Amino acid sequence: MAKRTTVRKEFIDYDARRKPRTKRSCVRCQKDLDSGKPVRRVYVTRDMEAVHPDDLGHYLRSECDFGWLLIGNDCACILGMEWTLPEISP
Ligand SMILES: [Zn+2]
Repeated sequence: MAKRTTVRKEFIDYDARRKPRTKRSCVRCQKDLDSGKPVRRVYVTRDMEAVHPDDLGHYLRSECDFGWLLIGNDCACILGMEWTLPEISP
């Protein structure tokens, strides 16, 4: 059986017009996130693509990647929950 090496990626259609005011902001809409509410996180490449969490094991990470970024719950729904992980691992 062939080893599956496909890394699923999905471009994050982010809003670059907004400028986040705080460090805790959503990668997609750039809106500030409430510090009291857990959100989701997503691994983002240098090309602003989300890497599917199940494929990170065979994804060759680059120093240029944005890495783990926060994404609001609403935006995670739009992107697809399967592309994200809980902000705080259970
Ligand atoms: Zn958002």
